[in-house]
Amino acid sequence: ENQPPPPHIVIIPSPGMGHLIPLSEFAKRLVHHHNFSITFIVPTDGPPSKAQKSVLKQLPERISHVFLPPVNFDDLPETSMIETRISLMVTRSLSSLRDAMRPLAESSNLVALVVDLFGTDAFLVAREMNISPYVFFPSTAMNLSLFLYLPTLDKAVSCEYRDLTEPVQIPGCIPIHGRDLLDPVQDRKDEAYKWVLHNANMYRSAEGIMVNSFIDLEPGAIKALQEVEPGKPPIYPIGPLINMDPSSGVDGSECLKWLDDQPHGSVLFVSFGSGGTLSSEQLNELALGLDMSEQRFLWVVRSPNDQAANATYFSAQSISDPLSFLPKGFLEKTKGKGLVVPNWAPQAQILSHGSTGGFLTHCGWNSTLESVVNGIPLITWPLYAEQKNECSDANTRC
Ligand code: UDP
Repeated sequence: ENQPPPPHIVIIPSPGMGHLIPLSEFAKRLVHHHNFSITFIVPTDGPPSKAQKSVLKQLPERISHVFLPPVNFDDLPETSMIETRISLMVTRSLSSLRDAMRPLAESSNLVALVVDLFGTDAFLVAREMNISPYVFFPSTAMNLSLFLYLPTLDKAVSCEYRDLTEPVQIPGCIPIHGRDLLDPVQDRKDEAYKWVLHNANMYRSAEGIMVNSFIDLEPGAIKALQEVEPGKPPIYPIGPLINMDPSSGVDGSECLKWLDDQPHGSVLFVSFGSGGTLSSEQLNELALGLDMSEQRFLWVVRSPNDQAANATYFSAQSISDPLSFLPKGFLEKTKGKGLVVPNWAPQAQILSHGSTGGFLTHCGWNSTLESVVNGIPLITWPLYAEQKNECSDANTRC
């Protein structure tokens, strides 16, 4: 008897290491626990970043990947927000996505297509090929509850959400002020809002939504999400999905070796996700603070950016040498006590290392989960996206 080939799944990660990393963990589970095979089809707007390549190349054999030809963003205004670019990257890749998927549909038992929060335009291709569209939501259940509620909120409210006098009641969540909602819903005239709303509307046509959270962490939001309603797809809390593989930090083994030599629980890890950048003034103050605290630290440094707090979101890499922006004499003065790593470090491995005792973080959801799982206390410094900056004007320094 001929056995049918194992189910094959296409995953389309939208730009951002915070999307690619948890999707990779999801893919590994499908391969190891359910015998699936997977192809990552990755939209791009230029050469893939070092960080992207290193995550993809460490995946098991049954997970392959292809990069789509870069889309062109020359027509976009400088001011266009990250959520607009992320969504457009997927939307403008649809015809190359079709070309990449056709041979897979012919040669494998292709059953489903999984996108993350801003990739739902690819559902069109899934429908054409008669395979099931799914969303993997790499943020909080609370944020997912907001996304599913947004079409209703959009119809009910005519002003900017930040001007509402009453807090917004997202199903299953504590009431929060409109001004505390995520960046791209702060200006309803901006393209970014339209993209969020468009994707949120499309979620209803998914066969299911997997969210990287778990009931004990967000009981209220998850219970509300799982209430059955007509037109609402089933929601699966499948978190915490984080990288637990001790060998995948090889690229940064130098800082892991340094950690080996530090006392247990003594090191403050300082890092602001894949996109986070500080202003020159903030960078300087942080350096002085770390020095004066006399604590041990491991700091992933990026070049400062005085315009945007998410300046390295697409590349996870500074253009110029970040170390050259540190205060004069800082490296010499803190030598032995502190280690500075430019741009990127094996964060999941650092947070599970016994010498790490605290984490100064921008509160990205993956960073938060990695800390919760490892029991590392957080010092919070929200910078962008769904973690609110201290200033209400999204993407602008104040
Ligand atoms: N990360 C890493 N090394 C770095 C910076 C980030 O490995 O130097 C990983 C981090 O462990 C997490 C992801 O990149 O898995 C960042 O996701 P998060 O949701 O925390 O923030 P985002 O970058 O999406 O804002």
